[in-house]
Amino acid sequence: MPELPDLEVIKEYLQGVLPGQQIEEVELLRPLVVRNLIAEDFVSALVENQFGDVGRRGKFLLLDLKSGEKLIVNPMLAGRLQYCQQSERRRAKTFLILHLSGSVDLRYSDVKAMGKVYLTRELDLIPGFAEQGPEALDPQLTLEHFQERLRRRRGEIKGILTNQAVLAGIGNAYADEILFRAGLYPFRKRSSLSAEEVKRLHQAIRSVLSEAIITLRERMGDDIDIKLRDFLEVHGKGGRPCPLCGTSISEIRARNRLTNFCRTCQPGTMIGR
Ligand SMILES: [Zn+2]
Repeated sequence: MPELPDLEVIKEYLQGVLPGQQIEEVELLRPLVVRNLIAEDFVSALVENQFGDVGRRGKFLLLDLKSGEKLIVNPMLAGRLQYCQQSERRRAKTFLILHLSGSVDLRYSDVKAMGKVYLTRELDLIPGFAEQGPEALDPQLTLEHFQERLRRRRGEIKGILTNQAVLAGIGNAYADEILFRAGLYPFRKRSSLSAEEVKRLHQAIRSVLSEAIITLRERMGDDIDIKLRDFLEVHGKGGRPCPLCGTSISEIRARNRLTNFCRTCQPGTMIGR
């Protein structure tokens, strides 16, 4: 569920607190969440190690360790990181706890148990990592470059936007927001989009994601484990009035996920696509 804006703000927060912190003790409560891609044992590789810089690539958080390895967190649908006092009550389904110096913890919980925490020296060993396209907010992703990337893809525009090999970082929620901002029906075939519509889409990706980062930065604070979605315009707002025209926001389950959109602002039809 965390997407580019959420992970970007979590990255900024952790970059402010983690570098230089020593891992004193490791509690691995559910080993299944871990994919250890180094020869050494996971826990012993971490104990007495120190954190370096924190980065992000697409929907992966990258936590550098002084030893040269990286802890890579891919939260998938429901994984959450928490940075808190050791005395704080544990969230349900807390699977991994790193006890750090100064009585604080870095914890990973995951109610769906679908996310993964990798320990590796080589990022390309992580499934899906090397295949990622450019960052959705990469300044080098000009309109021309974006058009070029889209041209090679077939199918519906929402599916293309959420394909990490096309652009890295956009998931189900922000794809709905971007398509609403661009005024595009989510199930339009990519091949049916005009040059003007592709341009609107390119602009909407930038504005929606960068505005969300600003909002999340203001509201998330130390609570990096909370999910803030209430400020979104259509995603998760099925049945409520569209903020632009007042039409009731549609919610349909297609391709195994929920899609929200406004039938008036994003005209289109599923028939004859
Ligand atoms: Zn509307």
